Amino acid sequence: MEIQYRCSCGSVEEVESDDFAQPFRCSHCGKEYNDPSFWNAESGLLYCVICRCRDLYIQKDFNRKVGVGIAVVGAILAPFTKLISLLVCALIDLGLYKVLPMITVCYRCHAIFRDFPKNSTHEGFNLGINDRYRSAER
Ligand SMILES: [Zn+2]
Ligand SMILES: [Zn+2]
Repeated sequence: MEIQYRCSCGSVEEVESDDFAQPFRCSHCGKEYNDPSFWNAESGLLYCVICRCRDLYIQKDFNRKVGVGIAVVGAILAPFTKLISLLVCALIDLGLYKVLPMITVCYRCHAIFRDFPKNSTHEGFNLGINDRYRSAER
């Protein structure tokens, strides 16, 4: 399992663990995140271990680098293949999208949680909830 988050010091960190039973630290400022009860095997993720927010949403783990790479290749080939390559790339994108795993994302701090057991109460991105957090930031 893996957590990708932005620490309060501004550093973007990635931490991997089998169970997150041990506290982990920001490699930049040394801030410790010590809260092993943020998930369990039965219920999945309960809240964001970074900011303690309980509003989390799930989305496909679409690797932007792969997507952009495919689009660039498609654009380069497009003049030679009468735009068919663009279509092919769009189809590849679509295929990739279907097999991608789900990630859980925190509405508040945008921490990303990979390979955690699924919490069945979590749903896809909700603009209303997101607006609440964005307006709280202002
Ligand atoms: Zn830090
Ligand atoms: Zn959070």
